[in-house]
Amino acid sequence: MSYKISPIRAFKDNYIWAIHDDVNVIVVDPGECIPVLQFLQEQRLSLVGILITHEHADHIGGVNELIAKFPNVQVFGCGYQQYNDFDSFKLPELNLTCQVINAPGHTDNHVLFFVGDAHLFCGDVLFSFGCGRVFTGDFIAAFESLQKIKQLPTNTLIYPAHEYTQANLNFTLQTDKGNISYYQVINDEVQTRLLTDDISLPTILANELKYNLFLRTDDVNVQDIISSKCGFQISDRFDCFVALRELRNNY
Ligand SMILES: [Zn+2]
Repeated sequence: MSYKISPIRAFKDNYIWAIHDDVNVIVVDPGECIPVLQFLQEQRLSLVGILITHEHADHIGGVNELIAKFPNVQVFGCGYQQYNDFDSFKLPELNLTCQVINAPGHTDNHVLFFVGDAHLFCGDVLFSFGCGRVFTGDFIAAFESLQKIKQLPTNTLIYPAHEYTQANLNFTLQTDKGNISYYQVINDEVQTRLLTDDISLPTILANELKYNLFLRTDDVNVQDIISSKCGFQISDRFDCFVALRELRNNY
């Protein structure tokens, strides 16, 4: 691959993902301006594009300052264009194509960016072992958004906007006790990765399909686990998703 993807840390646990070669860079969800400027300076890169998944302040807080400093920068995504699923645009400076997937639920206008071979920038829709809060209250939309992600190639690398992996794994370990040894191995891997690289991401869709409870609500075993937690029988994947999200909110 002729480009690299690097994390820029922002706030407490946000990642501003940078897609770059040795000359140009596109950043995803710059919630802050200063860490991006530092990265540009350190790596001697020109900012040519900004991708925005959704309008929460910790994702767009740095956009206007960056546009002011780099008036030629192109901005794509939420608040700038409307897309149909899999509409695409080119990022010519990096010789890349980007496809857009609408993914409402966390917010009404949330979009995902599927970039290049198989890199998904998913904002706050999916996290490693978890999913985003449904701030809109539209659980059907949130559920459908996750189903769209499930259809992507299983080798898709997933770049969420927060480092929430350990907290989500703790919840998973607490919830799915029947598979605790299975998750313990993953937990040890994540802890090693956090200690050595200080980051647990990206994650790969194949693993999320296996381990992320929010992508497994069609699995009868998961439905049974959630049923016993809730005290009533759940035998529907959507009902299971709603109950699971509720359990996670109260964790
Ligand atoms: Zn958000």
